Amino acid sequence: MSSIMHEKIEAIYRQIVNRNPGEVEFHQAVKEVLDTLGVVLIKHPEYLDQKLIERICEPERQIIFRVPWVDDKGEIHINRGFRVQFSSVMGPYKGGLRFHPSVYLGIIKFLGFEQIFKNALTGMPIGGAKGGSDFDPKGKSDAEIMRFCQSFMIELHHYIGEHTDVPAGDIGVGGREIGYLFGQYKRLTNKFEPGVITGKGMAYGGSLVRKEATGYGLVYFTDMMLKMKGESFEGKTVLVSGSGNVAIYAMEKVAQLGGKVVACSDSDGVIYDADGINLDTIKLIKEQQHKRIKEYASYHPKAMYKEKGVIWDIPCDVALPCATQNELNTKHAETLIKNGCICVTEGANMPTTPDAISVLQSNGVLYAPGKATNAGGVATSALEMQQNACRDTWTFDYTDARLQTIMRGIHQTCYETAEEYSVPGNYLIGANIAGFCRVANAMIPLGLI
Ligand code: GLU
Repeated sequence: MSSIMHEKIEAIYRQIVNRNPGEVEFHQAVKEVLDTLGVVLIKHPEYLDQKLIERICEPERQIIFRVPWVDDKGEIHINRGFRVQFSSVMGPYKGGLRFHPSVYLGIIKFLGFEQIFKNALTGMPIGGAKGGSDFDPKGKSDAEIMRFCQSFMIELHHYIGEHTDVPAGDIGVGGREIGYLFGQYKRLTNKFEPGVITGKGMAYGGSLVRKEATGYGLVYFTDMMLKMKGESFEGKTVLVSGSGNVAIYAMEKVAQLGGKVVACSDSDGVIYDADGINLDTIKLIKEQQHKRIKEYASYHPKAMYKEKGVIWDIPCDVALPCATQNELNTKHAETLIKNGCICVTEGANMPTTPDAISVLQSNGVLYAPGKATNAGGVATSALEMQQNACRDTWTFDYTDARLQTIMRGIHQTCYETAEEYSVPGNYLIGANIAGFCRVANAMIPLGLI
């Protein structure tokens, strides 16, 4: 890249940092994209003239609101709710809600920013958004979760709708929460409008495969990467960090493709099972009991639980970070390489730090970013919206086949874009450039918006 172009991008980045002080995760997500765009801007100077980067990096709308609720003892709590509606050039705003104590504006903005490009890569007509709250669902009763969700929706319902903004789940927001949120939306609006939210239960307008989609999609994409190198999951030892929705269904698909997942984790510790993680036990603990994974050891005495352990210390062939942002740093990347890991693909959003990505890439480890690899979740949300719009329910196999086609399309787009820009095999650059160009090309014809 020419030094003039480098300076121009640097200046834009500095302006974004100054305008959004303290939002370090948002800065990181923006930098990761901007660092790969120089070659595109040389080819398309109109993107610079049109101030496309500056426009895309400024959300169309940001909503921050109070969420008061009462716990089971009668004590009042006040949380903060967010919805950042980043971009609606490709379709209605679309993206999940995260309930986690770490949530603040900088996290929601990094997630919303990534969502724009991820959603564009799916090829479906969906814009980008994200929302959530600093509410901590850990240890809360069902009734408390319900009261919180109802209070959250009392404010959020003003800003969403099937043609406006369609939330879904993310960390801390699963089927149970989506049910409470949808139920409250229905009451407040007096409308049965299933297209307003995705990840719904099958009893009230959900889609088969949505629950499995992010994890399955990740493994389909990873399998395609491995195949390009003449490899497969067959006989591979795999680590999957996390134990939420993405991790569970990534583990399921790895096992179906002949790999062995030997460890998973939560924010308290790591479970290692040399026989392969028993998924029925994980599903029981996480999906039904809503408990911590240390319980696993009481069902499988040979398994080892390490409090505060680091999952990346365990030798593996393939590592799938499916927990949270910045969970895999340079030190972890070096350990993975030393232990012979050949592939790292992201189920979570931005789980690998920028330095760790460089270490992986420069050591020839196959790497692909979450905005490409975990897009199966939101893509299947778009399939749920399609079914809702035509009041239909598709079979599991049909929906799964659509998911596989979408993941194949994303893989091909990233792969070919990397070739076009003379960085073969660099899925990071391929994903960023392809996602950005799709949004840019949809934005220009709409005028100055
Ligand atoms: N939270 C998921 C993501 O990061 C899914 C969003 C959705 O289905 O709208 O893409």
